[in-house]
Amino acid sequence: MQYTRTIEATAMTEDNPDDDGRQPRQAVLWQWYEEPYNWITFMLPTKSLIMKCQLLVLSVLLCTFLSCNTATKTNRLGNATRENKNGWIYVHLQGSPEDIGYQHGYLLSNEIDTTVQMLQYFLQHETGKDWNFYRRAAANFLWPKLDAEYKAEINGIVDGLKANNKNYDSLDITALNAMEELAYYYVPSLQNAQQPHSGDNKAPGNCSAFIATGSYTKDGKIVIGHNNWTSYIVGQHWNVIADIVPQKGNHILMDCMPGFIHSGDDFLITDNGILITETTITQFNLFDSTGIPEFMRARKAAQYSNSIDDVIRIFTEGNNGGYANDWLIGDTKTNEVAKLELGLKLHRVWRSKDTAMIGSNFASDPELIKQETTFITSDSTTSPNARKKRMEQLVLVDLKGKIDLETGKQIEGDHVDALQGKNANNRCVICGHIDEDIKGCPEWSLPAYYPMGAVQGKVTTAALAANMQLWAHMGHPCGEDFVGDTFYKVHPEFAWMGKYLTNMKAYPWTMFEAKK
Ligand SMILES: [Zn+2]
Repeated sequence: MQYTRTIEATAMTEDNPDDDGRQPRQAVLWQWYEEPYNWITFMLPTKSLIMKCQLLVLSVLLCTFLSCNTATKTNRLGNATRENKNGWIYVHLQGSPEDIGYQHGYLLSNEIDTTVQMLQYFLQHETGKDWNFYRRAAANFLWPKLDAEYKAEINGIVDGLKANNKNYDSLDITALNAMEELAYYYVPSLQNAQQPHSGDNKAPGNCSAFIATGSYTKDGKIVIGHNNWTSYIVGQHWNVIADIVPQKGNHILMDCMPGFIHSGDDFLITDNGILITETTITQFNLFDSTGIPEFMRARKAAQYSNSIDDVIRIFTEGNNGGYANDWLIGDTKTNEVAKLELGLKLHRVWRSKDTAMIGSNFASDPELIKQETTFITSDSTTSPNARKKRMEQLVLVDLKGKIDLETGKQIEGDHVDALQGKNANNRCVICGHIDEDIKGCPEWSLPAYYPMGAVQGKVTTAALAANMQLWAHMGHPCGEDFVGDTFYKVHPEFAWMGKYLTNMKAYPWTMFEAKK
């Protein structure tokens, strides 16, 4: 670890008094654990009866402590499980915020370690900011705004990591959770403050998605689908299916990155019928560091919403503009779906019980586009607009009345370029492959052949969601592998990514089900 611990000390004093009490206590207990063997050796030559009694009493105390310590670890893991399946890691996490976090940190310790190391390397290269910068942002304006419940969960992740000898702290995990809003919203806002427009076009286009209901789906009930567009070096780690049963709120099944307390690319279902996904608003350029972190609002919306209105309320209250999205929301109890276009100053909602809504990183509200983005709606050659054209044809016309699980998978792996009217592998198709695009993606400042695009996909239906089931596909939903060796030979300008990105294999579609 390259950074200093000065910031942590400041943050813990100001914002997390709980930590001040907890850390020293752990240190004392550890001393007790380490030293009794020396103590016994020292005592054995003693012949006096008193000393023998002391030895006996202390030995009993030691055994009690050691067994308690083991039992505590076992209890904290509770019924948590982990299973590797077709490129995914399924984890079941259940209990108090502290214990959910501990289980998460413990079961995914190696993956969290690798992910943070990769991010330190990647973000330094891409944003010119070292990890200490991101930790400082976490300390200064993210951690203080987290609810006690989520601070406890993050501290639990830290404890679980430490139990497996991975030494990270709450600021590392907070920065990890906020990587999108910090790297692509906060950093550009600082650049723009220094020199107007120098931070434009940094907010990325993440994802292609749809939600449909009524006459648009085969059974008239809601169908929802999403594929995640990210740099492959990052997106290869978006391979966790988290099945979370918190003490309070909804049972959640979602995809996420290791160490995330939220989904991040945002695909989730809950046991009260709320379905949520999104695609980002491309070329968004505002951020308010005094607001509530996006990652916590996203987790709260999943955990505490019982209706579309609840989701909208939680997302809009204290909005910081980070990771500004077009949220697609469904409620299987009412068969209604909605789109929440959430900028910073402006937001707008569309909702219906008979519609299909699509997302490919285009914003719709003219005023929001004008005030909060540099998005050009008239340029048909951009990735958001080309995919919009394709999805309007495919989802709203060709598949109207036929949308179900199988056609949902087909949508997320679609390769028709609406500009050329034929199949292609580039920035303009729903299953994006910018690594094969001679133009790269200029609207997101990505050069030719930048290794970014669709890294995985998920689909579910109201009927499946009622049983807490979803289907997920790791790797390009079309089934094409990314092979690092071959790619770097042709495009050596990206060989620096080879340290953390080798291959991104495409696995079969796989069903995941939450534990009941
Ligand atoms: Zn593809």
